Amino acid sequence: MKEVEVIKDLCISCGICMQMNNEVFDYDDDGKSVVIKQMVNEEIENIAGMCPTGAIVITEK
Ligand code: SF4
Repeated sequence: MKEVEVIKDLCISCGICMQMNNEVFDYDDDGKSVVIKQMVNEEIENIAGMCPTGAIVITEK
């Protein structure tokens, strides 16, 4: 099963992932992205590829 996570130290708060899918990604108290719903599909994989800093990591668990 695949899981998505955001490496907080790499997130630059650009907002792309939250704008693309606000069911999975939201802002945390520091204005960084956080995963609020665990879901990996083609859309989420595409969003991970669009993150300018590679902060969105998908792993096989
Ligand atoms: S796309 Fe990447 S850098 Fe931008 S808010 Fe999301 S995790 Fe952070």
